[in-house]
Amino acid sequence: MIEQTLVLIKPDGLKKSLTGNILTRLSETKLEIVATKITRVSRELAGEHYKHMKDKPFYGELIEYICGELHQRRKVMAMVYWGEGAISKVRQLAGATNPEEADPVSIRGAYGRITTKGVYENVIHTSRDKEEAEREIKLWFSPEEIIVDLYPARTVEVNKAKKKVWAQEHQ
Ligand code: UDP
Ligand code: MG
Repeated sequence: MIEQTLVLIKPDGLKKSLTGNILTRLSETKLEIVATKITRVSRELAGEHYKHMKDKPFYGELIEYICGELHQRRKVMAMVYWGEGAISKVRQLAGATNPEEADPVSIRGAYGRITTKGVYENVIHTSRDKEEAEREIKLWFSPEEIIVDLYPARTVEVNKAKKKVWAQEHQ
């Protein structure tokens, strides 16, 4: 099945200069990158991205982590990968959430670590399933930032300029 998935190179990945290595690893999948940007992560965006983690004891640190506050890198690199089996292919290469349990040749196994506070700094994020991919792609990107039509969009007029927005906002 042709699908799309969100990939984030997290602030530790950027600080450790891993962008090139991670993109090289991901190119093994032969998937296509259809959107990419370097972006600041506001507390609001971070809270929306990790809203299902609110009750976790490490939630506060997780937000600080993705906002770049632990790495003096207030940005992430966000990408959409597109193609056959994109979600499972990228998750497979990423490896398990816990970098100590991840396959040592996976991206997280090779480059991740657990902080003394117990947060898994695992260098990349990637969507778990189709529903999560749709929610996350719509949260991180606008329709015009993606070079293929992934989800229905509509055109709205803002200050007399027309722009496209998602027909159905992320949930
Ligand atoms: N996380 C953590 N400790 C845990 C579980 C998760 O620090 O026990 C962090 C980790 O950075 C992970 C993120 O929270 O990537 C989101 O967790 P999720 O369960 O969604 O894992 P993922 O989908 O990233 O593999
Ligand atoms: Mg997840």
